[in-house]
Amino acid sequence: MSYEGYEQWLCRTGHLHIYDCYDAPDMETWSCHHCGEPVGHVNAVDCTNEEAEGEQEFVIRQPAPRCGCCDQPIGPPVYWLPGEQPRESPGSSQSSHGTLLT
Ligand SMILES: [Zn+2]
Ligand SMILES: [Zn+2]
Repeated sequence: MSYEGYEQWLCRTGHLHIYDCYDAPDMETWSCHHCGEPVGHVNAVDCTNEEAEGEQEFVIRQPAPRCGCCDQPIGPPVYWLPGEQPRESPGSSQSSHGTLLT
C-alpha cells in the first residue's frame, strides 16, 4: 500500500504544470519554464484509491495562443490562480487591481 498522486502547480502567471508526487521539484528553487515566474499555487491530488481526490479545476484566463498560419498551439494556456479570478462578470470594466479580502 502506497500513496499515489500528483501535484498541480500554477506559476504566478498561471501556467499549469503537473508533477508526480514522488517527482515534484523543489518549490523554493522552481521557476516556470514558460515565463520564469516562481510557483504561485500548488494543489496535491490523491490518487491512491484510483480516484483523483482533491483535483482542482482551474479556469482558463487566456487560451493557448495559436500560430497564425497553421493553427498549431504555440504556447500554454494561462489559468486563473485560485482567489485571483474576479467575481464580477467579465463585462464590467472595473478592473481594480486585486486587493483580495479574505
Ligand atoms: Zn509561467
Ligand atoms: Zn505555423
